[in-house]
Amino acid sequence: MHFTGTVYRNPYWPTYPLIQITQGCTHNKCKFCSMYKVINFKMQPINFIEEDLKEIKRNMPNAKTIQLLSANPLAPTYKVLEPILLLINKYLPNLEYIYTATRVDDIKNKTVEELIKLKNLGIKEISLGVESGDDWTLDRINKGYHSNDIIEQCKKLDEAGIKYWLTFLNGVAGKEHSIDHAINSAKIFNQTNPLLVGTGGLTLFPDTPLLEEAKKGKFMPLTEEEMIIELRTFVENLNVDCYFNTHHTSSINLSGPNFLKRKDKIINQLDRLLKYGDLDRLSNIRKNKRSL
Ligand code: SF4
Repeated sequence: MHFTGTVYRNPYWPTYPLIQITQGCTHNKCKFCSMYKVINFKMQPINFIEEDLKEIKRNMPNAKTIQLLSANPLAPTYKVLEPILLLINKYLPNLEYIYTATRVDDIKNKTVEELIKLKNLGIKEISLGVESGDDWTLDRINKGYHSNDIIEQCKKLDEAGIKYWLTFLNGVAGKEHSIDHAINSAKIFNQTNPLLVGTGGLTLFPDTPLLEEAKKGKFMPLTEEEMIIELRTFVENLNVDCYFNTHHTSSINLSGPNFLKRKDKIINQLDRLLKYGDLDRLSNIRKNKRSL
């Protein structure tokens, strides 16, 4: 298989095989991210894709799912993506479901009609790492789009019938804007129809602008207690019935379907964590994380 540089496989979408159709990230400027610093965005050569498909066909001729890599494989236009997806369907005729992560602004260059065609070619579910719905925060972390883009592009996905996940990055606004980040993200997510809302906690990784800013005192990271308060505020304000997924550093499991039915319970669990949790231990777990 031709895997080039960093490849990120969504750990919550347990499909394989994986196939890389692009390299790197078109944006590559989010201040908390170091994943693709050493590689520029480009299309994976079509002969690599075809060789990989032959290998997958040999090993898994009846594959029903596949996950596209790398950072944002849906960045190219429909015209560029169509022959790749046709090739995937040719080699894997039993394919039912293609999953990928991508950026919100990758949807902009596609019409609803083109999105429907992508869905018919297998793209049924995508993960959008939006991180925040708060414009101040999106600018602060250099995400490259705004909350209105999230709403507009999600509406197009709704029209096309493509399911999507949205992520909330707990802690990424720092102390300065924490509660606004939580409340405004929930407000924007409430205007969409995500299949799943996922939350992850910020870790300041080496070689990221945000870590450098933190060292100079220009970014003030949240304490573990403030992280939980921010997450609680987000949960309290979120009103979409979705699967709710979180990989907080604590061992409490907040993940599961029917978010609205479970919302009060999740808030209670977070309150108990604030009251009784070993927050120093949680903070150490976060500091020792080496990747997303
Ligand atoms: S977080 Fe995602 S969009 Fe931002 S630079 Fe990293 S890979 Fe690219």
